[in-house]
Amino acid sequence: MKPGTLEATATPRAREIAARVEAFVRETVIPYESDPRCGTHGPSDELVQEMRALARTAGVLTPHILPDGSHLTQRETALVLIKSGLSPLGPLACNTMAPDEGNMFLLGKVGSPEMKERFLTPLVQGHARSAFFMTEPAEDGGAGSDPSMMQTTCKPDGNHWVINGRKTFITGADGAKVGIVMAKSENGACMFLVDLPHPAIRIERVLDTIDSSMPGGHAVVTIDNLRLPADQMLGEAGEGFRYAQVRLAPARLSHCMRWTGCCIRAHEIATDYACRRQAFGKPLIKHEGVGFMLAENRIDLKQCELMIDWCAGVLDAGAYGTTESSMAKVAVSEALMRIADRCVQVMGGTGVSGDTIVEQVFREVRAFRIYDGPTEVHKWSLSGKIARDWQKSRDDIG
Ligand SMILES: Cc1cc2nc3c(=O)[nH]c(=O)nc-3n(C[C@H](O)[C@H](O)[C@H](O)COP(=O)(O)OP(=O)(O)OC[C@H]3O[C@@H](n4cnc5c(N)ncnc54)[C@H](O)[C@@H]3O)c2cc1C
Repeated sequence: MKPGTLEATATPRAREIAARVEAFVRETVIPYESDPRCGTHGPSDELVQEMRALARTAGVLTPHILPDGSHLTQRETALVLIKSGLSPLGPLACNTMAPDEGNMFLLGKVGSPEMKERFLTPLVQGHARSAFFMTEPAEDGGAGSDPSMMQTTCKPDGNHWVINGRKTFITGADGAKVGIVMAKSENGACMFLVDLPHPAIRIERVLDTIDSSMPGGHAVVTIDNLRLPADQMLGEAGEGFRYAQVRLAPARLSHCMRWTGCCIRAHEIATDYACRRQAFGKPLIKHEGVGFMLAENRIDLKQCELMIDWCAGVLDAGAYGTTESSMAKVAVSEALMRIADRCVQVMGGTGVSGDTIVEQVFREVRAFRIYDGPTEVHKWSLSGKIARDWQKSRDDIG
């Protein structure tokens, strides 16, 4: 693809890192896509560590965090993460994958120096995976789209806290070394850091889900009298939802970045198919029905890039970006779904087979329309803001 807005206006260091990441993903990671260790509950940890060793040697492991511990800007991160996303395995190999990327960001912002040393360093070095425990089973009436429905409790006991509850859809809990657990105290939500595996956190089962890119899959877990020292609380008691907000906007946006990278690749594969495959005496792309689908893909991809660029700029200016990241998440996830669907369609039967990653990209972006806030929840919250803004403008006039 020709350099777009992000690439054309990127800093030299972002361009340089992104170029190295792209070369690594295209030359080294893509061949792993047919590795039998890519299972339905995600690639095995053995495979992840093998690819990370190669990324370490190539100097592209955790490329968005610099050797001095500082983070690239969000606009710089966008360029790098889009490139790492050119394969569903790229973010795993480069350690730019969810939920670790968001968890590292949160720990970097809120963690104490001791916490960073103990929990963040092994993540940044790519030696450990982490999991974020927020969502709770619908059958328990727990937190889902509405986090305020949280049922998991934490109670102080001397200089410890005791946590009880059930969680679901916890990505990577099976095999993670670090957990961030959300629970409700009398004074509001709290977040705790915990070494995993822990005998008080039991994996009930790993769900069979539509996606398959995240190691450990998505687990249902029971937390039974998890007793943690008070100094394993992340930040202050009662501030859990605020910290979740700190994590959410950049984490949402980085999903947009990685899956945009994946859809760029799916579009490349579909284009290649449409230019080589003949039907009715000419290449598929010369049939308007196919050519227009690819044209619409290019338009949607550019819109994704522009939304990411805009929202990243808002975050770089120091704002929480809650509204902007909601808008970007809706626009990008819906556009990526359209792109992935068109890629499948352009490729006919091959599109729904496992012979290329197009089929997987379609499954992955379908799930992306739900996690980090389903489309409807973002629209609902935006419509609430529109109503409040309208009321405020009326009050100001009055
Ligand atoms: C692949 C995957 C990975 C995940 N990983 C994690 C993880 O690592 N950690 C974690 O804590 N959670 C994780 N989740 C959970 C995810 O955050 C929740 O699925 C999401 O918040 C929605 O909650 P729910 O599934 O309970 O849906 P529900 O709350 O039951 O909502 C169902 C549907 O109702 C609609 N809806 C809800 N509220 C409104 C509204 N106000 N207006 C209009 N429509 C509405 C939406 O269409 C929504 O999809 C993951 C989910 C998936 C699918």
